[in-house]
Amino acid sequence: MSTRTIVWFRGKDLRISDHAPLRAALAAGDVMPLFVLDPYFFAPARARELPHRMQFLLDSLSALEAALAERGSRLFVVAGKSVEVVPRLTREWRADRVVAQRWVEPFARERDRRIGDELGAAFQLYEGETLMPPGTLRTGAGRPYSVFSQFARVFRETVVIGGPWLPPRALPPVPSDVRADTTAIPTCEQLGIQRNPALLPGGERAAHARLQRFLRDAASAYPERRDRMDLAGTSRLSADLKFGTISARQVWTAVDGALNGTPAARSFLNELVWREFSHSTLWDRPELLERPFRPGFEGFPWQHDEELWQAWVDGKTGYPVVDAAARQLLGESFVHNRARMISASFLCKHLLIDYRRGEAHYLKHLTDGDWAQNNAGWQWSAGCGCDAQPYFRIFNPFTQGEKFDPEGDYVRRWVPELAKMPTRYIHNPAEAPDAVLREAGVWLDQSYPRPVVAHRLARERFLAVASQHLKRDPRASEAS
Ligand SMILES: Cc1cc2nc3c(=O)[nH]c(=O)nc-3n(C[C@H](O)[C@H](O)[C@H](O)COP(=O)(O)OP(=O)(O)OC[C@H]3O[C@@H](n4cnc5c(N)ncnc54)[C@H](O)[C@@H]3O)c2cc1C
Repeated sequence: MSTRTIVWFRGKDLRISDHAPLRAALAAGDVMPLFVLDPYFFAPARARELPHRMQFLLDSLSALEAALAERGSRLFVVAGKSVEVVPRLTREWRADRVVAQRWVEPFARERDRRIGDELGAAFQLYEGETLMPPGTLRTGAGRPYSVFSQFARVFRETVVIGGPWLPPRALPPVPSDVRADTTAIPTCEQLGIQRNPALLPGGERAAHARLQRFLRDAASAYPERRDRMDLAGTSRLSADLKFGTISARQVWTAVDGALNGTPAARSFLNELVWREFSHSTLWDRPELLERPFRPGFEGFPWQHDEELWQAWVDGKTGYPVVDAAARQLLGESFVHNRARMISASFLCKHLLIDYRRGEAHYLKHLTDGDWAQNNAGWQWSAGCGCDAQPYFRIFNPFTQGEKFDPEGDYVRRWVPELAKMPTRYIHNPAEAPDAVLREAGVWLDQSYPRPVVAHRLARERFLAVASQHLKRDPRASEAS
């Protein structure tokens, strides 16, 4: 007898190809695709807290709805709390089981535990967000890895990445007795969100087009160009990986196949392994969304300076590269990885502001904002994370700018009041002679601020504060 399966799409798996739950349901019989508009994310007040992710998600959800319909099925979009809707529909639809893709976040694991308890039918979670089930790799002592290079070595030696599955050619129509009080996918406007035209388009097709463009235009030069903030040298697939409009396995296989063992392949795939590391780390240490990985950082004397915070948020610190990153975030909800590192380090180390404030700001505005990845990036930058940048390594934003934006084009794009500065001074306009500033139309403190803190002093202050604080605890700079 055919099994009736609810395929519960949950926002990190918005595709029909390489989708383990959908494939399993299809192999067993009737397929009932479901998406729940849970107020946890979709209440207008909540949605407005994550406007760009919401826009990308809604676009991707519409694309999923169309893809399912094209193949003969349909997506049921039902409003309500997941913990109530899913068990209720399981009963009403006489479903034998519910299948979904696993999430790693602590709050999602709690949601899944509650649903599993209340379902009254089988609840099966499948992998798919990552290349291997998070929390799989263990050291010889049976502990999670806290050093990336060791994790990466074992990952490469042991994890077998199979070929991705093609999309189903056709899907069975949903059984005729399956009905629900459905709702249309809301528009951004209905949730009170202003659409941002600068965002990348969502959806599975757009994700694959991005992958193909990357393979054609940028992949082979990835190692040389990936750190250049002024060039389009990276894949821009992060939001797709976050929302699952493409699977990590599809990206891995395509890049591995196209670049086949070259340094470019190794360099790019290594970033996907960093992604695995972030997800596994959060899986094994769910408390990291609240607290630093390195216990010595507990109680760190972060400062509460609203003026400095606002200068950083608005991109008005007087450090052009830091300001460009802040404005790129607000403008297109994306920030180049190198600029993220410089900007995050600056907030924590130069301004002594708690990394958790920056983390929340990024999570709100980034289209690819992802709990595991963002937390790992911020803790790395602050020096308190799992295999983080050591606390005493402090980026110099001027020299970082000169190195990774050598012509200043990244700064010119996002800080247009500096557009006419000659390249020699673009990363440090406060050092430019008056005549150069006049010629470029830059008026310090008026059209563009002087540095809100002096680099050398800020550096020394952070080192003094951090070493004093970390002295209290001998494990401070050790990974646990
Ligand atoms: C402070 C900070 C915050 C960050 N927040 C996020 C976030 O919320 N979501 C997110 O996806 N990434 C985050 N990152 C990692 C990285 O900046 C982005 O993944 C990358 O910039 C996305 O651009 P891309 O897709 O063009 O990357 P590519 O260079 O093309 O890399 C391909 C993929 O590999 C993964 N990847 C790349 N770099 C990293 C990295 N350093 N760590 C882990 N995975 C990586 C991403 O999934 C990325 O899409 C953060 C980094 C820092 C320093």
